[in-house]
Amino acid sequence: MRQSIVMGNWKMNGSRSEGIELANAIIAGLNDGDKGIAVCVPSVYLSDIEAVVKNTPLALGGQNVADHESGAYTGEISAFMLKECGCTYALVGHSERRTYYGDTNESVAARFCQAQKEGIIPVLCIGETLEERESDTTFAVIDEQLNAVIHMAGIDALANSVIAYEPVWAIGTGKTASDEQAQEVHKYIRQQIAAKSQAIADNVQIVYGGSVKPGNAKAIFAMPDIDGGLIGGASLDATSFLAIYKAI
Ligand code: PEP
Repeated sequence: MRQSIVMGNWKMNGSRSEGIELANAIIAGLNDGDKGIAVCVPSVYLSDIEAVVKNTPLALGGQNVADHESGAYTGEISAFMLKECGCTYALVGHSERRTYYGDTNESVAARFCQAQKEGIIPVLCIGETLEERESDTTFAVIDEQLNAVIHMAGIDALANSVIAYEPVWAIGTGKTASDEQAQEVHKYIRQQIAAKSQAIADNVQIVYGGSVKPGNAKAIFAMPDIDGGLIGGASLDATSFLAIYKAI
């Protein structure tokens, strides 16, 4: 039985005090034994939020990680630095990174490997654009994004990762994939992994992201191959984020 997980992605929103307030409000809604909940926060506030989440069920993540270990890479944040700031997770390959900052399948795979070297669980974001869906290339895009990581990290590396299927056309648009559309791609991802390792396919968490809200979370999470969600907009409000978490 796979443990489900709900992760918030705060993106570039809020201030230090708002982040601390939000983290405290989320924790206030959790019980001691709760697990499977995390927030990926702006890197400059990681230490502030680490102090809030320490010894609570709320785990911490970075929104990206460098594709090199250390050195002359101005503006990048290494996996070691994330680890020092208390991160359990790091997003890699979020579509906003791929679209606006030129992250490629190869650089995403390198980020994935760097995260794992430091014991950080990479959350590999994959998904098609609207154009790709409409031209029937969704599965080909998923194959390329997934295989780049398998090629560099090896299939066994997926055992210590989370995969986030996030159709780009559903992120921040209010358009959610239907439960069936999401399930179809999650099942495909799991089958592709199963072709290389059934055990890893059975255990890897595959979460859905794209305009998940309290009103649609329960139905999406009820799909057999969907193990939770990566939540953007709705994770900025503690009540909504907690309602989504409680929907699993
Ligand atoms: C995201 O940023 O990963 C995301 C899913 O955003 P939203 O929930 O706002 O669509």
